[in-house]
Amino acid sequence: MTTIQCHCNNCRKIAGTPFQTNLFFKKSDVEITGADTLKSYADSNTLSGTEVSRQFCGACGSTMFASTPNRAEFILVSAGTVDGGLDDEVLAPKTELFCKDKRSWMGMGKVVDSRDAE
Ligand SMILES: [Zn+2]
Repeated sequence: MTTIQCHCNNCRKIAGTPFQTNLFFKKSDVEITGADTLKSYADSNTLSGTEVSRQFCGACGSTMFASTPNRAEFILVSAGTVDGGLDDEVLAPKTELFCKDKRSWMGMGKVVDSRDAE
């Protein structure tokens, strides 16, 4: 398992944020429960040209999983959906993708107001 942070436009849109953080697992290492609530769509407008199958929760709308046919043995799990069992260091991104699209203000200490709560 590794953690990937993607800055592509598709990931921004599905996450509703400036990037999407995914946990990259072998499918054989993931057990999906409650799959009856999942909704899927085929994202064919990707930069790589490879269609991405995306799943989200039909009950709450959370982005859950993604997979591609060229890496069929793997599944991407949205890091924000992990409730526990993985420590913070494991969740920390190890790889960033599509950095040419990364927002210029990210990760450069440019946040001027940082708070622990609202
Ligand atoms: Zn992406």
